[in-house]
Amino acid sequence: MSKVFALIDCNNFYVSCERVFDPSLIDKPVVVLSNNDGCIISRSNEAKLLNIPMGAPLHLYRNIIDANRVKVYSSNYPLYGDMSNRVMTSLMTLNSELEIYSIDEAFLKINKQDNRNIECDISKIRKNILMWTGIPVSIGLGPTKTLAKIANSMAKKSENGIFNLDTEDKQNKILRNINVEDIWGISRRWGSKLRMIGIGNALDLRDASANKIRQYLGVVVQRIVYELRGISCLDLDKILPKKNIMCSRSFGNPVNNKATIKDFITEYAIRATEKVRQQNTRAQGIYIFLQTNRFRKEKQYSSGIMFGLNSPSCDTSIIIKLALRAVDQIYQSGYSYHKAGIMMLDLIPSEIHQQDLFQNTNYSLSDQRMGVIDFLNNKYGSGIITHGKIRQKDKSRWKSKSFYLSPRYTTQWDELPQVS
Ligand SMILES: [Mg+2]
Repeated sequence: MSKVFALIDCNNFYVSCERVFDPSLIDKPVVVLSNNDGCIISRSNEAKLLNIPMGAPLHLYRNIIDANRVKVYSSNYPLYGDMSNRVMTSLMTLNSELEIYSIDEAFLKINKQDNRNIECDISKIRKNILMWTGIPVSIGLGPTKTLAKIANSMAKKSENGIFNLDTEDKQNKILRNINVEDIWGISRRWGSKLRMIGIGNALDLRDASANKIRQYLGVVVQRIVYELRGISCLDLDKILPKKNIMCSRSFGNPVNNKATIKDFITEYAIRATEKVRQQNTRAQGIYIFLQTNRFRKEKQYSSGIMFGLNSPSCDTSIIIKLALRAVDQIYQSGYSYHKAGIMMLDLIPSEIHQQDLFQNTNYSLSDQRMGVIDFLNNKYGSGIITHGKIRQKDKSRWKSKSFYLSPRYTTQWDELPQVS
């Protein structure tokens, strides 16, 4: 029984999430902006037709946006994260190995049975995801992950949202039209090096000498050559817990006092420890950093500090205490700060109880307390239960600039969609 790889990619994902809850956006040009409403990071097909490029700064396209009544949204990560979860959970119900590759992409490894029409099965998957989540997806199929990725770019243009790059005939035809730097895993730099030796498209690379490519650019590119030939070298990565978890953000406005920085860091520490607990791990250290805005002509400063933990921890109150101590050590007055963050380091599975000699850490009490907080926040909306250090009245200040934010329809009780 042979295997087939499928790459499932949500179409214009952030825009699609907005459309699920506001169907009036269907068939209209829609864009979603990055943090602080800076650049355009998701576009509906109608917006693409207006030649609004990916990553374009909003202010440069104001005229086109206004003239064509393009709907603009700030990014609503609680919504997108939850919708992504729904798509991935739908995929998990299939009896295939799954690798979640990004917020809106996943690979499946499917057993190909001779008597079954794989495209028919795939079309069912596509319909189910749309029915269960409201999100349209494109699915590319191929004998390797690299070919499935190329097939996906064809699926995006095809009527039924599916493309199977299974025969040599199709591969010959399609690979010729894929620029070498557009191949998954080929960086710009490698792309221009390949062009220097006359390799300009995916077909050239497939038919190049694998050994020569290895000598010239190393084993990673050699593997891509084999993958393009249909010889699978990249298996699904098992979904392993992350080794480090970072939570950082640029502030909406420059911050020049320590108390506000501490509020931000507290909030980030709460989020970061939640994520550490979600994957059943504990951190063995933390890293806290502060930065001014290097793009502004003003006094610059950036600093970070790392603390090791005597006992690995995922307890929010312990992490907040340490993080605030870190801020005391690295904060310098007289600067306008632009960004701060926390990284939870060297995460290990929770069940490894590594006691230190001098502190008798009571994990079960801490785990119970955190468990109750996570349970209530999951059930009643994030932030229902929080930690004493947060000054509720200042909450507005943490918000980054998001003028065009839609409600968090699926994760906040008071923002549920209403039917009138
Ligand atoms: Mg996508």
